[in-house]
Amino acid sequence: MSGLLARARWPRCGVRGCGAPVDRFVEVRLPATWTTDSHGNDLAVLVGACRRDAADLERRQRALRSARRDLQALTRALSVAVETTTSLRWDLAQARETSNEPVLAPRDAVPLTARSRQREITA
Ligand SMILES: [Zn+2]
Repeated sequence: MSGLLARARWPRCGVRGCGAPVDRFVEVRLPATWTTDSHGNDLAVLVGACRRDAADLERRQRALRSARRDLQALTRALSVAVETTTSLRWDLAQARETSNEPVLAPRDAVPLTARSRQREITA
């Protein structure tokens, strides 16, 4: 064996404290922001990892992407809910201004106090 090969070291796993030989490279994408249109700004880093840590890095990367999608979906739902609430409040205010009739709840609406009693009974 030549001296060069004898001194050569196989790359080691990039996970701190591991030190096992690299099995493969894993792309880790770090989001720049959590907004819905930030995919283009992700920072992609290739990390050499041993077999065990590569699998863990890939699992964590999938979980991060999933959490990001969930956050984006929840943000959209919250935005729609806020818009709907604002619109309904505006409609209610308009109805109160333009009508001499009192604004009544629907006939099948359950009063709030009765709702809390129903919850206690079913719990
Ligand atoms: Zn490792």
